[in-house]
Amino acid sequence: MSEIKANLKRVRENIITAAKRVGRDSDDIKLIAVTKTRGIEEIKTVVDAEVLDLGENRAQELRDKYGEVNAEVNWHMIGHLQRNKVKYLMRRERCNLIHSVDSLRLAKEINKRANKNDRVIDILIQVNTAGDENKFGLKPENLMSYLQEVSEFNNIKVKGLMTMAPHVEDTEKVRPYFRKLKELFEEAKKRNISNIEMEELSMGITNDYEVAIEEGATIVRVGSAIFGPRQYK
Ligand SMILES: *Cc1c(COP(=O)(O)O)cnc(C)c1O
Repeated sequence: MSEIKANLKRVRENIITAAKRVGRDSDDIKLIAVTKTRGIEEIKTVVDAEVLDLGENRAQELRDKYGEVNAEVNWHMIGHLQRNKVKYLMRRERCNLIHSVDSLRLAKEINKRANKNDRVIDILIQVNTAGDENKFGLKPENLMSYLQEVSEFNNIKVKGLMTMAPHVEDTEKVRPYFRKLKELFEEAKKRNISNIEMEELSMGITNDYEVAIEEGATIVRVGSAIFGPRQYK
């Protein structure tokens, strides 16, 4: 377990260094520890080390772990979300931010469920800036009209954008995809659409979080660099 703490320390140092390289304040960058496939003891280790944000990519896994970890942390739904799973995220304190909204039908379902639960839920819109067929997300050219439509929903609040870059060895290759997301973020901000706030840019994982920070990420989602390689059952 102390290996996790050492890894975490290194990731935090890398975040500070990457921020400094581009004159940013690392306090403006939130680290989400991605806990998918990890056991409760491993998760508690990072919570002990004052990680306040945890990310899961499956709604049921998030729901189940929520109770077991039982700590004052923010939970983030970062993975592709099916409409029939939205209900698992709705208890007020269970999920603080859904990063992966990428269709009108999904937004509509989240809005409906949030309304039933008498809450407003914060979401990010996932954009497929790389045009990668294996990744989810809106096409960049559809984002602005999508934001217009989503702004009509009263029980969701758009807080920013998210992307997932393709996995490559040379992380310089993904820089343009992060830069593109930042451009879309600035454009959306300029449009001043009611009910749409552009505050968060969720981009960067183990492979590429330092590049993402250089390009303006406010949230990085890091799993393996903290917990080691994932073993899928
Ligand atoms: C698994 C996952 C991550 C973390 O990936 P690592 O390579 O382990 O850092 C980040 N974002 C999403 C959406 C994920 O599913």
